[in-house]
Amino acid sequence: MSFFIVFLLFNMNQNYVNSTISYRTPLVVGNWKMNTNLDTSLSLANYLLYNKKLQFKDIEVAILPPIPFFVNVKKLLKNSNIKVGAQNVFHQLQGPYTGKISALMLNSIGCDYVLVGHSERRFICKETDDDINMILKSIYKTNIKPILCIGETKLENELNIQRETIKIQLTKNLNGLTAKQVQQMIIAYEPIWAIGTGLSASSQIAESMHLVIRNLIRKNYGSEIADNIRILYGGSVTPENAEELIKCADIDGFLVGSSSLNGDSFNKIIDITRDENNFSNYLL
Ligand code: PEP
Repeated sequence: MSFFIVFLLFNMNQNYVNSTISYRTPLVVGNWKMNTNLDTSLSLANYLLYNKKLQFKDIEVAILPPIPFFVNVKKLLKNSNIKVGAQNVFHQLQGPYTGKISALMLNSIGCDYVLVGHSERRFICKETDDDINMILKSIYKTNIKPILCIGETKLENELNIQRETIKIQLTKNLNGLTAKQVQQMIIAYEPIWAIGTGLSASSQIAESMHLVIRNLIRKNYGSEIADNIRILYGGSVTPENAEELIKCADIDGFLVGSSSLNGDSFNKIIDITRDENNFSNYLL
């Protein structure tokens, strides 16, 4: 017993010692974007079935295949605890909206998570903060959990207004949501300059931004929700930088783009997340 306590203390990160957080199960999400076909979707999903760490309850993994392959992937993973989500959803629940997909539709095919406000949707598809707010409200009419993406552009970062940017995004995106609804969401901090560029934020920068987000949630929704909400980091996460990032007290997992398209790399990120995030959390 005393050996176990010493072992736990040894593994404790100093950040956790000073923190009041409770245990947050780390989450790793793979966003395949518009990069797979049916065959590659199934073969990537199949890789995950060989990951032994996924038998444990102290790691959660979700993949977001392109919607045409959702049902096939879901079927392949049906005996696993790997979650399957969607990359996007429209804010209306049903009606004459040709080509759109609603939260009700996603719910009916067993969708666990849906990304909202990814920077590619904000910039390429011109989704505004108000659109994102409406999308979130429609998702809460179902059992799906939203993963809300926020983050600053390169210019905002250079102007040192990244904190203001994410405060504005969070305030507008969460407008009118109840504390209970906020509690159910996942937030992904994704600096746009780090997405797909190979230039990840340093662990110090990422941690400081995660803390800004958590403190904003604390101020608006209280400590219990702030301490329990999971905040993921996204932006050029690889097996090489995952360890340093996941050791930060306020980084609760990753939203992974490019590296999720390689089965080995994604499995390595999952393993690192589970192993490096593990024992220190149990102490609080
Ligand atoms: C993303 O698009 O959400 C993302 C994090 O991509 P990448 O990992 O390729 O930077």
